[in-house]
Amino acid sequence: MPTGIHPLDALLSPAAAGSTRRRVVVIGGGFAGLRTVRALRDAPVEVTLVDRRNFHLFQPLLYQVATGALSAGEIAAPLRAVLRRQANARVVLGEVDDVDLAGRRVVLRPLEAGAATALAYDDLVVAAGGGTTYFGNDAWEPLAPGLKTVEDALELRRRILVAFEAAEREDDPAVQREWLTFAVVGAGPTGVEMAGQIVEMARDTLRRDFRRIDPSTARVLLVEAAPAVLPGYAAGLRARAGRDLAGHGVELLLQRMVVELTAREIAVRDPDGRVERIATRTVIWGAGVRASALGERLAAAAGVDVDRGGRIPVERDFSLPGHPEVFVVGDMARVEGPGGAPLPGIAPVAMQEGSHVGRVIATSAAGRPGPAAFRYHDKGSLATIGRARAVGTVFGLPLTGLPAWLAWLGIHLTYLIGFQNRLFVFMRWSISFLTRGRGARLINEPWDATGAVAAATADEDRREVAPAGRRGAS
Ligand SMILES: Cc1cc2nc3c(=O)[nH]c(=O)nc-3n(C[C@H](O)[C@H](O)[C@H](O)COP(=O)(O)OP(=O)(O)OC[C@H]3O[C@@H](n4cnc5c(N)ncnc54)[C@H](O)[C@@H]3O)c2cc1C
Repeated sequence: MPTGIHPLDALLSPAAAGSTRRRVVVIGGGFAGLRTVRALRDAPVEVTLVDRRNFHLFQPLLYQVATGALSAGEIAAPLRAVLRRQANARVVLGEVDDVDLAGRRVVLRPLEAGAATALAYDDLVVAAGGGTTYFGNDAWEPLAPGLKTVEDALELRRRILVAFEAAEREDDPAVQREWLTFAVVGAGPTGVEMAGQIVEMARDTLRRDFRRIDPSTARVLLVEAAPAVLPGYAAGLRARAGRDLAGHGVELLLQRMVVELTAREIAVRDPDGRVERIATRTVIWGAGVRASALGERLAAAAGVDVDRGGRIPVERDFSLPGHPEVFVVGDMARVEGPGGAPLPGIAPVAMQEGSHVGRVIATSAAGRPGPAAFRYHDKGSLATIGRARAVGTVFGLPLTGLPAWLAWLGIHLTYLIGFQNRLFVFMRWSISFLTRGRGARLINEPWDATGAVAAATADEDRREVAPAGRRGAS
């Protein structure tokens, strides 16, 4: 442990510092970390949950924040409130910079200028999730924001709403067209849902709100490198989703790789090598996810190689190889499913892993035999395409159209944390369904301060950003 790092334990909870109970530190209050903490509710341990945010975020509904259907607060729950009644758990706001495996401490970045602090652990659970990756083209990030955090969602909402406003003020029809063209890169669930929602925004919500432009003429492109949307779904569902999206008004650009991005256009290459350039001011990146960089530091310290997605291959009980006291769960962990393929980075996987590791630690702390080996129970997955349209499987049953959409609504309301959030979201959805409105259409930054407008009007807006190495990805 480097010098100059102050132990935080005694400051936070003198009782806990003097306690002889096992100290469990959980990094990350997302789906996996929160389930771990809850599974330790009755265990003879002291749990410290560290998160750099003071809230749990329900990421599957971020796209609704990005398109003005929901407000950020409606899909976030303060961690202190969530754990208010769990006497053996405390919450620390802090960003973990590093893990000192030998010293059994996590090192926290200082909140303000000052010394770093450290938390000692007997058991550590690392559940820091992941972020967006541009497959080496990091210069694309400001031109095509991803969707991972509340800030991402608000920035995308700002850009989408600004695009309509800018089109309304524009005299040149060609430039107006650029503003009214939206490109979503990556046709996984996030891309499909974003594209579907932008179409609904343009055709329903905003249809009568402008005087010079007709928002319903907006083009929404969905760019995907694979031959079909929703890779990972069954072939029939992929085909149905493609038809539904096209019927909904989304233009599918399949088997297209993004090869260049500027503030005013996106260039895509087809399998024959032809490059098409499409003028657009708004590009949304839904293409790549990579596990938290903390995982790479942890893996390097343990002498383990991460996989291509930055995930750490863990033992069957989710422990870090060579470190039975450290567990890695959720989007950071690479675990093989029954067929040998890695389990997907989705919320149910994270939740089940988190609960399992909680049970592993709880039984060990209580001196009882451990739980049965982990088995993932696949309850299915669903993606919405638009109003009353979705596709997916529930308990192995393929669903499409209205039944899939209703199942999607029910599942998301069930898993959203906090009764108040559930109630508000249900009310918002009901009102939106009846009025086709969106209650959170705020441009929350001065409209030309950053991003779309500023970037598009900058002189150096033709940035060549497809360097050597992996060129493009979608
Ligand atoms: C836009 C979007 C849509 C999605 N849609 C779906 C869907 O429809 N269905 C589905 O099943 N899955 C969906 N997913 C995937 C799902 O959200 C993830 O698989 C899940 O969140 C992973 O849980 P986790 O606990 O591993 O990480 P997360 O939920 O990401 O939680 C990680 C936590 O760690 C904290 N953290 C990160 N780094 C640090 C650090 N250094 N120090 C302290 N705290 C830190 C973060 O603040 C966060 O609270 C979606 C994801 C996104 C981004």
